[in-house]
Amino acid sequence: MEELLEQLIDECKIYTKDGELANYIPELTKADPNMLGVYMISSDGKQYSAGDCMHQFTIQSIAKTILLLQALLDKGIEEISSKVGVEATGKPFDAINVSGQKLASKNLNPMVNMGAILMCTLIDGDTYDEKFERVLALTRELAGNPDIQIDEDVYQSEKKYGSKNRALAYLLKSYGMLEDDVEEVLDCYFKSCSISVTCKDLANIGFVLANRGQMPGRKERVIPVKYTRYVNAILMTCGMYDGSGEFALRVGVPAKSGVGGGIMAAVPTKMGIGIYSPTLDEKGNSVAGIRLLERISNQLYLSIF
Ligand code: GLN
Repeated sequence: MEELLEQLIDECKIYTKDGELANYIPELTKADPNMLGVYMISSDGKQYSAGDCMHQFTIQSIAKTILLLQALLDKGIEEISSKVGVEATGKPFDAINVSGQKLASKNLNPMVNMGAILMCTLIDGDTYDEKFERVLALTRELAGNPDIQIDEDVYQSEKKYGSKNRALAYLLKSYGMLEDDVEEVLDCYFKSCSISVTCKDLANIGFVLANRGQMPGRKERVIPVKYTRYVNAILMTCGMYDGSGEFALRVGVPAKSGVGGGIMAAVPTKMGIGIYSPTLDEKGNSVAGIRLLERISNQLYLSIF
């Protein structure tokens, strides 16, 4: 299997040239554009990796998955579904998703920025620091890695250049959908996006989603099945933003991308996959990462369709 992964990485390296590094958070332009790595954990516990799989990068929007999971664990499906919808937005991640004149909960999706910012308000904790600490703890638990930290430079960069996210949060506030202090809410969101991970960490998180809440080699469920089903369904329809339809055709598994260049994929009952390659298409998804996942999916018959 590792030979196959090495070969697929060699074939896909060329695509790293077809994308651009994210530049709206200046710190992200410092990434090495040639990198490509993959880590896979199959449901029988076997692990396979190739390329730059232990390189650290920021989780970015893949944190939206964790924010939603934590909010579900804290508040349950009924309350969460009264605050955000589940329909694919078909719009970029930072779109101001207002249909007609009215901003309504059902038009928000937890996999795009407005919905994810709102998730921060629904996580238990007396302060936004406490809420973030719980998000970080859940990330460490799902990744099976107690050493996960935030990348302080990326966090400061997100905060400094976060005007669009501030606009989205103030819009929520103006519609009475967000009551707390915008800066505090965004601090939890920016920190969550700045969590530093490797492909291995993402593969572990994907594994838990793929295996109905179970961790590799452990029997107990860390996440109830009703929540992994809920999250996987939203990942399938909106995890790659307005590229989700094409991704469903090419790869065909629930997945989430981030502008740090990561993709986390959860192949139901089969495996968790973490991918890293930092050059992105115009939708903010890793170009070589998608190509690599497409080839892996074809070779191993992973598409659920
Ligand atoms: N931190 C980024 C933002 O909110 C994450 C976006 C992304 O990964 N697509 O703008």
